Amino acid sequence: MELKWWQKPVRMMRRDFLGDFSRYKDLDLETFAREAKHRWHINCEWIMATPGCAPGLAYMTTFNSAEFEKAPGLGDFDILREYLPHARKHGIRVVPYINAHWYSYEFAESHPGWEQLLEDGTSYGRKHPLYGGGTTFCLNSPWRDWIFRLIREVIAIGVDGCFLDGPSICPNACYCEHCRRLYEKATGQKRLPKYMDWADPDWKRFAQFRRDSRANFIRDARTEVESVNPDAVIFLNGGGFSSANIGGGGDVYKFQEHQHFTGAEEFYHVSEEYRSPFRSLNLGRFLSAGDNPSVVFTHHTMSAWHYIPLCKSEMQLALSETVASGANVWFAIFEEAMKHRAEEAYAATEKMCEFLEKHEQFYTDTESAAETAALLSNSTLYYYISAQNALYKDVGSGKEENLTVDMGTGKEAEHIAERRSTSAAILDREYSGCLDALTRSHVPVKVLWDEHLMEEKLKGVKILVLPNTACLSQKQLTRIEQFVTDGGSLIATFESGFYDELGDARRRARWKKFLGIAKVEGAFAPSAVEDYMAITGGKIDGFRDGTILPRTYNALKVKPAAGSETLIRFMNPIGKSYLPMAGDSPYPAVLLSRRGKGRVVYVAAPLFESVHRFGLEDHLRLAQSLVRLASGRRGLQVQTDGPGSLAVEMRKNAKGVLLHLVNATGDMKRPIEKFVALHNVSFSVRAGRIKRIRALVAGKNVRFKTDKGRVAFSIPRIDDYEVLVLER
Ligand SMILES: [Zn+2]
Repeated sequence: MELKWWQKPVRMMRRDFLGDFSRYKDLDLETFAREAKHRWHINCEWIMATPGCAPGLAYMTTFNSAEFEKAPGLGDFDILREYLPHARKHGIRVVPYINAHWYSYEFAESHPGWEQLLEDGTSYGRKHPLYGGGTTFCLNSPWRDWIFRLIREVIAIGVDGCFLDGPSICPNACYCEHCRRLYEKATGQKRLPKYMDWADPDWKRFAQFRRDSRANFIRDARTEVESVNPDAVIFLNGGGFSSANIGGGGDVYKFQEHQHFTGAEEFYHVSEEYRSPFRSLNLGRFLSAGDNPSVVFTHHTMSAWHYIPLCKSEMQLALSETVASGANVWFAIFEEAMKHRAEEAYAATEKMCEFLEKHEQFYTDTESAAETAALLSNSTLYYYISAQNALYKDVGSGKEENLTVDMGTGKEAEHIAERRSTSAAILDREYSGCLDALTRSHVPVKVLWDEHLMEEKLKGVKILVLPNTACLSQKQLTRIEQFVTDGGSLIATFESGFYDELGDARRRARWKKFLGIAKVEGAFAPSAVEDYMAITGGKIDGFRDGTILPRTYNALKVKPAAGSETLIRFMNPIGKSYLPMAGDSPYPAVLLSRRGKGRVVYVAAPLFESVHRFGLEDHLRLAQSLVRLASGRRGLQVQTDGPGSLAVEMRKNAKGVLLHLVNATGDMKRPIEKFVALHNVSFSVRAGRIKRIRALVAGKNVRFKTDKGRVAFSIPRIDDYEVLVLER
């Protein structure tokens, strides 16, 4: 079947004049379009249809309209209609940007009843002015009809679709009369629960209502678009894998069938917090897990300094990780920055997009070829609150200062909101730590969403990782058990499957026994000081028995089921620095069990949370050993002597197996300014029968040897990015 334009590789760009639309009038639009095609090498451009600037001009248009007010400074000049023929001439698809979230107070006053309201009836935007001034409307209010008319007008111009920036559902909103009426219709209840009131069982229903409201909005918006042009596309910024999803009603699965791309943003921000160098890769993997083409939005500015372009290396990293994950690239250029730092802006983007344009066939219709999958569950992100009291103990930071150690107050948080925030923090670290640990171990990984366990997506998966995938339905558990008894391997951490899909703790004795657990007795208090676990049982590759490792920050006290082998044991807590060791505890940290034709590796700790929190090599090596243990005699899919900062992603299409090598080896800081090239990196890859290996960046063929289904070769030099095509 012939692929539609949006199903082929798309390189999207937005050029931004930050509100000064009159600049368009002075542009030579032919040159502007030619530059898009021949300098930036893009094939899809976002043009603002409604402004995203102060004081909230989303009600104005940059095109001529009988109904809507024109943005100032443009006169009769119609940006969309003027630019479209030039873009067409150069083969560039035009997808207007429609701001659907930022309106001035004056405009809101002339449309009473449209604003999102807080529980006390005040407008969200008056209490929390958007970007310093302005408000936002409710997608269940009559504003909906207004924006749908605007969307229809945009599509009728003859463009290729639209991107909707919003509408969002804001924190502590929306309690307007329209939401109240619809909620009552959906649930039969008049009373709306308080926002994030976890003690109120109705909060989860309200959360689902908010999510469904967003899904219904995009569904209806798509119907409007298609009523004008059945071939036009529509998509929004739908969020990634974060515990914040519940606050904004984000859910990529629910939105999937109503939009053409699944997209989310991964903007570079300088931060004192640890920032994984693989964030674009991780988000891209998550978005690409679905059925739609995916897109990672990369901000082309140096963090919050919008007039300075993002430095070359960070831009290169973001774009190569995005395409390695199977996602499409998107970047925004702030034209003001081009006046004085154009060379920096061009540097990585121009080179990368030219490469992608030249090699489109290797980015077309690809799918993950990874044998290891990680289930990143949105239900868990939405609802997880651990039932283990000990996790909520305030143990301080563990930092030494002035001859004392910060050990906290020792009190357990009792309020459920605090418990949710602690649980959410464990989860956020565990999910990104899981993808990072696998990346640093050179384990290609395919992300699964909750729904994918029941689908074909499990096909080809040999190892399934549940990184504290706590909230699962009974049906999902049964499917996982089947996967293992049929010969698959499972690595499950911490409280995976201990709660149902709505976050309620379940006894689940059968499932726990399946994991190798006879009984969960409780949890250790968190520890970042002087606590250990010890290797035993002789099966953890790379570590001798008796070796001690830093204990994970969080840990459960479980008793092993009969027949399950203890491979690592928690040691008794010491709890303070410079005290003697306290010997082995009766509690295993890692259990191995045979189940049918498969095996289960259970880790009684959120191991990946500690990978993220501490970044210790011991925890990374342990994670890799567990995957090796799970892969059994087959061994790891990819073996290499490259450093952990070399990401290896494996995809495939009609051209063969595509091995993306993203080198994030930098100058020991973020932003990375300079990559350190890697030399003579050896690989052994399980890839079936291969006829030829081509290195696309180097433009050379690679010599290789084959042995028992594995291909062995060496790559002389990897700068920032390389793609190997293993032709069958
Ligand atoms: Zn509302």
